[in-house]
Amino acid sequence: MASVFTKIVQGEIPCHKVYEDDAHLAFLDINPIQRGHTLVIPKREVSDFLDLEADEYDALWRTVRKVSSALKDETGCKRIVLIVVGYEVPHVHVHLVPTFELDDYPIPPRMELDDIDAEGLSHDLLERLA
Ligand code: AMP
Repeated sequence: MASVFTKIVQGEIPCHKVYEDDAHLAFLDINPIQRGHTLVIPKREVSDFLDLEADEYDALWRTVRKVSSALKDETGCKRIVLIVVGYEVPHVHVHLVPTFELDDYPIPPRMELDDIDAEGLSHDLLERLA
């Protein structure tokens, strides 16, 4: 079944569109964290960003940069917070959240950094990425 975002791309569901090109669409989030909270999506429905082709991945982030720049100018915000989640809608999207201060984006509670776990994890990742 088509994702809700594919339905937006196909015009079956309305959106507040802010940008479109052949491969991407950007529109306002229906349940915004802040004014101007925007989603940038590739039109092609892919669930996980790791499954995008390399050129699609690069093009998505170039589009995120372009839309972020306009959003920053338009809102006068200090920073655009970028988030990739995807638990609710399994169609790749990047959240662009205009913020004026740290508290404008709700950061989840932090864990205690366990030195031993950090040592093991960094070692394993270093090996995996070598
Ligand atoms: P997540 O998949 O966890 O990154 O969250 C999906 C995001 O999509 C949420 O922020 C929703 O508010 C947003 N969303 C879901 N349906 C729509 C829609 N029809 N139009 C705009 N945003 C939507």
